[in-house]
Amino acid sequence: MPTLAPTATDTATHCPYCAFQCGIRFGAGEDGVPSVVGDADFPVNKGALCVKGFTASDTLGHPERLRTPFVRDANGDLAPASWDEALDRIAAGIQDVQHRHGLDAVGVFGGGSLTNEKTYLLGKFARVGLRTRNIDYNGRFCMSSAAGAAIKAFGVDRGLPFPVADIAQADVVLLVGSNPAETMPPLMQYFQAQRAAGGTLIVVDPRRTVTAQSATLHLRLTPGSDAALANGLLHLLLKSGAIDMEFIRERTEGFEQLRGVIATYWPERVEKITGVPEAQLVRAAQMLGKAQRPMVLTARGAEQQAQGVTNVLAFINLALALGRSGQPFAGFGTITGQGNGQGGREQGQKADQLPGYRRIDDPAARAHMAAVWGIHADEIPGPGRSAYELLDDMGRDGGVRALVLMGSNPVVSAPRALHIEERFRSLDLLVVADFFLSETAKLADVVLPSAQWAEEEGTMTNLEGRVILRRRASEMPDGVRSDLEIIRAIAERLGRGDHFAYDSAPEVFEELRRATAGGVADYAGITYEKIEAQQGVFWPCPTPEHDGTPRIFADRFATPSGRARFHPVRHEAPAEEPDAEYPLYLTTGRVLGHYQSGTQTRRVERLNKLSPEPLVEINPIAAKRAGVVDGALVTLVSRRGTAIARARVTRDIREDTVFVPFHWGGPSSINRLTNPALDPTSRMPEFKVCAVRIEAPSVRQGVMSA
Ligand code: SF4
Repeated sequence: MPTLAPTATDTATHCPYCAFQCGIRFGAGEDGVPSVVGDADFPVNKGALCVKGFTASDTLGHPERLRTPFVRDANGDLAPASWDEALDRIAAGIQDVQHRHGLDAVGVFGGGSLTNEKTYLLGKFARVGLRTRNIDYNGRFCMSSAAGAAIKAFGVDRGLPFPVADIAQADVVLLVGSNPAETMPPLMQYFQAQRAAGGTLIVVDPRRTVTAQSATLHLRLTPGSDAALANGLLHLLLKSGAIDMEFIRERTEGFEQLRGVIATYWPERVEKITGVPEAQLVRAAQMLGKAQRPMVLTARGAEQQAQGVTNVLAFINLALALGRSGQPFAGFGTITGQGNGQGGREQGQKADQLPGYRRIDDPAARAHMAAVWGIHADEIPGPGRSAYELLDDMGRDGGVRALVLMGSNPVVSAPRALHIEERFRSLDLLVVADFFLSETAKLADVVLPSAQWAEEEGTMTNLEGRVILRRRASEMPDGVRSDLEIIRAIAERLGRGDHFAYDSAPEVFEELRRATAGGVADYAGITYEKIEAQQGVFWPCPTPEHDGTPRIFADRFATPSGRARFHPVRHEAPAEEPDAEYPLYLTTGRVLGHYQSGTQTRRVERLNKLSPEPLVEINPIAAKRAGVVDGALVTLVSRRGTAIARARVTRDIREDTVFVPFHWGGPSSINRLTNPALDPTSRMPEFKVCAVRIEAPSVRQGVMSA
């Protein structure tokens, strides 16, 4: 069990993992072993934690923790180095690439778990320190389709436009592509309260997940058929007259253009596309049609597709037609995944974005940021490549040749992962800041040991748009530096240090407040003190006197007209569907014991005992066809690669589909199989649908040890 010296005996802070950002109390524990318990005073989780939260401190004093920089030596090995050696190597490598290939040949890749201060600074580092347009982050693989759809329909992207506690008082909730019972268990208290009050929960998921098992009705759709399902439900609601015409007239636009499209989604057709029986479609529509406080929530199941934006827009259409959006306990929202998935997409680490959710191609936004940064607006580069395109182009003509990466492990988390690993190997310089030697860090030329969640302070923005304060609770080990120190040190060596002379996260936050002032995600009135006093502040909060905005659509939507917009969207088939050679759908996701690429959670003994390896869920009929028995190791094959997983034969998965979690690297990396077909708007890869076949274990003996 790791030991370390906490800074205080009892510190209120937050879990390092998902977007629920549970409040925790971090204490000294016994015998120097830190203790973590749920913070009953924090109004979001109200004391509840999942097993990842309870074990979060196990990573802090972990024996595999990086405590010195590493630099690749003449033999090609990563060797321990001093900070000066590592930073000199980085500066020389960056300057060499800039000299030979231009400023845009250096890229930055960030993460959705970084604090707002780091996110902001990373965006500034790219545009002002490196003067490159090429920065993006792994949140592109998480929330971008929901964000793209919300901006089209509502004019603003805040995952939940209302407090999460509203779920408990909705009378009917349609939950699409989300399994919070495993991925975000403390959230379930709100669904349980909703059910206890007589509410109805309809779950849409190809799998019979733990969440689906608790639902009133489970619609087990074919992967990739989400838009057809939403349109089919709206067809039935229109036919029965169970839509809110008064709300549609007063608070929306574009409804009439929708009618013609929706008319073509009659139940027999929708059953054929989605596999959901007509009787279940009718039952779901009746439940929704009777609702007084209807709520529609989507998550990665519908969003991580090449039609992700279309899918979300189809569910937004449904929510708007049901009415009451903007009023308490009703409306549309998305359940954010990563710890700072919301703040991470607001502060400028997206390729097309400046802080405050400003667009980088907006002259007024560029002028505002130039004034904050003390540069000329013309010096701010234009939009760069999206995450997958940036990674895919690494080392090629016109692509980046040097990459600085923080808070991400794309060798495990990117689609078509074997190809992405090859692209990483082609770089002239790869710099990775991390606290463990992740699969991506192993390929780096320079690895920098960075501080962990409890060792530095900063703000995060949870799934509700509530800005919270992650307080420092533990000392940083010797040899380790914070990401803010790392950015400053690299900038100084590049001669840009005067733009990055911050000594603390609060100093960065003060600049972030000015940067976001007047923007969509306006943090200007938020201070650390106000966050402490209010247990978080919902953005927008434009002035010091303002308390923040828990419900953002109460009076108007953020479109120019103030009305929410309907979009006539149609179902389109996934980029790849099963055929004779690859007869099954593959869909991927998370399990209770692990978080994202598993860099942290795979090193926590208690979590590894819970989930030591990936299990592939296979329906008994598909298993019999493939000659697979429960517990056998099988090889899954797609057009892009292979992966090994242990079979879990279960009726909880459709006959035509297999499910595998994506937390593992190496031969068990399921993202070696996934399809990088991109959504045209969000540039989201199609993680949730591709075609695979199962090979019996004997076919590829020895692969597990590769
Ligand atoms: S992983 Fe998420 S749900 Fe679990 S304790 Fe942490 S913040 Fe809470």
